[in-house]
Amino acid sequence: MTRLSGITPSGDIHLGNYLGAVRRWAAEAGPGDLYFVSDLHAMTLAHEPKRLRSGTRQLLAVMLAAGVPADSLFVQSDLVREHMALTWLLECTCTFGEAQRMIQFKEKGAGRESVRLSLLTYPVLMAADILLHGTEEVPVGEDQRQHVELARTLAQRFNSTYGEVFVVPRGVLPAAAARVRDLADPTRKMSKSSAEGNGVVYLLDPPEVVRRKFRRAVTDNLGEVRYDPEGQPGVANLLEILAACTGVTPERAAAGLGSYRELKEATAEAVLAELGPVRERTAELLADTAELDAVRAAGAELARERCGKRLDAALAAAGLG
Ligand code: ATP
Ligand code: MG
Repeated sequence: MTRLSGITPSGDIHLGNYLGAVRRWAAEAGPGDLYFVSDLHAMTLAHEPKRLRSGTRQLLAVMLAAGVPADSLFVQSDLVREHMALTWLLECTCTFGEAQRMIQFKEKGAGRESVRLSLLTYPVLMAADILLHGTEEVPVGEDQRQHVELARTLAQRFNSTYGEVFVVPRGVLPAAAARVRDLADPTRKMSKSSAEGNGVVYLLDPPEVVRRKFRRAVTDNLGEVRYDPEGQPGVANLLEILAACTGVTPERAAAGLGSYRELKEATAEAVLAELGPVRERTAELLADTAELDAVRAAGAELARERCGKRLDAALAAAGLG
């Protein structure tokens, strides 16, 4: 099964991205799987060019440092011509009504005075990402399922209209992953695009900042270290993080912890221990531009080689070239 997963440089990478996505990619990557930095997707809302470029490098460095195989990595904009050419073909396959029905467009666009046209067409770019690379399985959470459905629809419509060119992908729910919640508000998930960073543990936060954020984590006044996600969401979040970093169940992680202070300290130390090697390697990669650039160039070259025939076939089938 070839799988494709991406991460968008919409802000600094945090603990949730690492535990829920990047660490799993490193563990599960199989031959032919692709992991990419979706920098084009970061442009659907207002963006700053400098931050986009540095954020892209940061994500690539973290993925590599975490052990995602170098030959499965690429940056979307390094294949901007391929991705945009296919996006156009798929925009010519998708109806306006289909694009408008996307829930995320309604959600992300709600309340804004003006939205970029790309916010509407972004699911078509995502379909191009998936179809260009012959992806069979797309592991996605609930929020992206509708977009994968659109990719399926467009693949089937293109194939039946112009000839069999694309693999019809399937969305698969990733095996249950910890949903890391915001330390300052455990009703929300940790997010890159959070307006406030106090409850978000960024992967590259200095150790003292990580410790401070855990010390200030919101809990409750029951005073008991128990794994009860409904009744004690803040405590449960800390236990899930502690468990994910130490390889035990949250219930096991709770054993022997007498106070919230102990829980917070244990969790902060476990996170620092888990992230330590990744942080060090990331810093090295970000300091040594040559190595990261070489990996990036090689990944782009490989991805381009693998998708070239499919794009040519699609263009030809549609009557181009
Ligand atoms: P944004 O706020 O811009 O949507 P994000 O933090 O939600 O950023 P994404 O780029 O949407 O990050 O997602 C990248 C990957 O990280 C996805 O696989 C997603 O499921 C995973 N992920 C995001 N947030 C969490 C979280 N809090 N806990 C676990 N996994 C997460
Ligand atoms: Mg998100």
